[in-house]
Amino acid sequence: MRRSQLFVKTRRDAPADETARNAQLLIRAGYVHKEMAGVYTFLPLGLRILTNIANIVREEMDAIGGQEILMPALQVKERYEKTGRWDDKVVDDWFKTKLVNGTELGLGFSHEENLSPLLKNFINSYKDLPIAPYQIQTKFRNELRSKSGLMRGREFLMKDMYSYAISEDQHKAFYEKAKLAYQKIFERLGIGDKTFITSASGGSFSKYSHEFQTLSEAGEDTIYLDRKKKVAINKEVLNDEVIKDLGLVRNELEEVKAIEVGNIFNLGTKFSEPFGLKAVDEHGKSVNLIMGCYGIGISRAMGTIAELLNDGKGLIWPESIAPFTVYLARLGDAQNALETAEKAYNELTGAGVKVLYDDRRDASAGEMFADADLMGSPIRLVISQKTLQEGSAELKKRTSDDTQLVRLDKLVETIANSQ
Ligand code: ATP
Ligand code: MG
Repeated sequence: MRRSQLFVKTRRDAPADETARNAQLLIRAGYVHKEMAGVYTFLPLGLRILTNIANIVREEMDAIGGQEILMPALQVKERYEKTGRWDDKVVDDWFKTKLVNGTELGLGFSHEENLSPLLKNFINSYKDLPIAPYQIQTKFRNELRSKSGLMRGREFLMKDMYSYAISEDQHKAFYEKAKLAYQKIFERLGIGDKTFITSASGGSFSKYSHEFQTLSEAGEDTIYLDRKKKVAINKEVLNDEVIKDLGLVRNELEEVKAIEVGNIFNLGTKFSEPFGLKAVDEHGKSVNLIMGCYGIGISRAMGTIAELLNDGKGLIWPESIAPFTVYLARLGDAQNALETAEKAYNELTGAGVKVLYDDRRDASAGEMFADADLMGSPIRLVISQKTLQEGSAELKKRTSDDTQLVRLDKLVETIANSQ
């Protein structure tokens, strides 16, 4: 990618009405554009980050047997009447709309009502189970407040997986696998050390659901954390009985703010019963399927990472999701600098390294360095007449102030090894 051809523009200030740090930084770095509260456009480089996050989630869902599908945003009213969720008093964040002929429709906030009737066409017996379809899709929620940037969208990207099992045991086994997969995901996203499994309210089918809560002052949830045991309890269910049940001790729990980046839930037969989703078990008996649901806010995760991983100068992306690995700044337009930078760009790109080449002739060194820091890629490389006198490029990691000279003929090797 050449900066001169890229549709990106950094800015000194975020819009005055944007109060969330994650959105301020992402807007300033040219990754997203704010359309209205809770609604953002992902610009070319921002979309790369979102896609990189989605791909990590995909890999881990596929690894536990998930199968990706894509369901529609438009929702049939009657399905929700069956489960009691059309009522605005039951689901208070619906967006609803109408066909020209007056038929009411909803914009999907979650997809249990799609999958249960759909799977009736595919599941007959225990031999077809367990099954775990998932999607990465846009959700619509008429959130009362949307002031947390990407962390609370009114239109946002979610990964939602739904598991179906023939028995509680089979459900539990899958649920535990999903828990481990979630931990892996947040590790890979660079927020594993700050993300804790949190027991929360479980609905009518299990004692608890499990949320994945990332510590942050900007979080909207309050949790009680046992740092040593690495588990937490959501404030909404905190009481002496729950603390005891989880083997924790009240005065070892720390009250902290956190962001719910994901959650997993046992839905029991809540959505299989109304749709008559059954299968024949090993004993020839027809039973309602046990359902689980597993959400991750993909765009919320991007907001959370931006919110947490930054410094006074800008964003600091983990290598795993960075939109590019190297910000290559060429200073001055001396012929040898131009040629060498061009060659380095081609060689690095040829070796599979993602490079943003700042080839602008009208930008100063200060502007380029400020942009490199703001945009937050792991490595900054500088090629100038000064570095060329040493036959080198200057390398600086985003997380350190030290610079080092790297000989041009060792550039690709050095960068490949540092990844
Ligand atoms: P919250 O309590 O934050 O409103 P929720 O309980 O409504 O979350 P779910 O319905 O379980 O969330 O959705 C699954 C996941 O989707 C959440 O864990 C979160 O990561 C993400 N999510 C939920 N609402 C939003 C939103 N408005 N914007 C972005 N991500 C969201
Ligand atoms: Mg909600």
